[in-house]
Amino acid sequence: MIVTVTIDGKYLEVPSSYTILQAARENGIHIPTLCDDPRLEPYGGCRLCLVQIKGMPKAVTACTTPVSEGMEVVTTSPEIEGIRRTIVELLLSDHPNDCMVCEKAGDCTLQELAYFYNLRDNRFWGARRQYTSRDGNPFIERDMEKCVLCGKCVRVCNEVQGVGAIEIGYRGFDAKVCPPFEKDLDCEFCGQCVSVCPTGALIGKQSLGKGRQKNIRQVNTVCPYCGCGCNITLHVSRNEIIRVTSPEDSLNEGWLCVKGRFGFRFVNSSERLTKPLIKRNGTFEETTWEAALDYAAGRLREIKRAHGPDAIGGLSSARCTNEENYLFQKFLRAAVGTNNVDHCARY
Ligand code: SF4
Ligand code: SF4
Ligand code: SF4
Repeated sequence: MIVTVTIDGKYLEVPSSYTILQAARENGIHIPTLCDDPRLEPYGGCRLCLVQIKGMPKAVTACTTPVSEGMEVVTTSPEIEGIRRTIVELLLSDHPNDCMVCEKAGDCTLQELAYFYNLRDNRFWGARRQYTSRDGNPFIERDMEKCVLCGKCVRVCNEVQGVGAIEIGYRGFDAKVCPPFEKDLDCEFCGQCVSVCPTGALIGKQSLGKGRQKNIRQVNTVCPYCGCGCNITLHVSRNEIIRVTSPEDSLNEGWLCVKGRFGFRFVNSSERLTKPLIKRNGTFEETTWEAALDYAAGRLREIKRAHGPDAIGGLSSARCTNEENYLFQKFLRAAVGTNNVDHCARY
């Protein structure tokens, strides 16, 4: 069912299943948020998306309030902006504010909000949370002093990954995101939590100290690891891949597994093979591509002559493209003459 609503004086026709935030976003009306992600269930935690509805005594959260016929919404007013400004001030009153050395600088929602509201001083300086412990997991740097408790990491881990490796532990001022019993994070390391974190609280360890946003080149490509073909964006600094993200509007909706997200160090590894090898007398020896191909072709011919084409079989890989796999089976069937062809993904 379609309903007609008015947002900031603009008449809009939207599905009745929409929230105010969805209706506004789809029609180019900006409402700030910290805890919202369109791919997650509405949460209403950060309160930044408060809007006024005609006839309602108090402001409501746009992310959790559904639209209804004839609704009249105001998304910005001195009163609303005052509330939002105070919320950001309160968050910053208990934040390290070390943007100069923070990995997230230039890509941080909190920093953007502080800039927008021109927050230099803070009325609310007081007690600060201090978490000195870092855990020893190999992939994710967790700096809970920078956490704004938006809950996105917890929700993505539950709702998308179905793992539930983290929760908001303790309550009140002591509330913090932690694994069970505050042990080291020990999970699937898919990094969805890192990808949704709006601040520098969760960062991939491999990118620490490797480059500022403005010096990073982004290259869109496809994950090389398996046939799902997740879309990825390589973040390249000084000719080195330092981070992998994924666009939200891709077939995989921005979600990746541990391999796609963190398994990229092989690209710049000094241990990579750069020349083909031929094993002679039990030892690999470097050779040229011409010599390696001649050798492989010669051996296939010899085996086929001596034992027939079905003495040969080919195992292909999910890490190759469809085209490469097609060519591989074609080569075995048409050139070698056998149907002995299989694929690593079958296990
Ligand atoms: S890396 Fe994945 S599994 Fe681990 S806490 Fe984050 S979302 Fe959960
Ligand atoms: S760690 Fe990041 S995503 Fe998780 S609650 Fe804190 S700010 Fe939000
Ligand atoms: S990110 Fe994981 S699931 Fe996606 S293509 Fe790469 S290996 Fe496959």
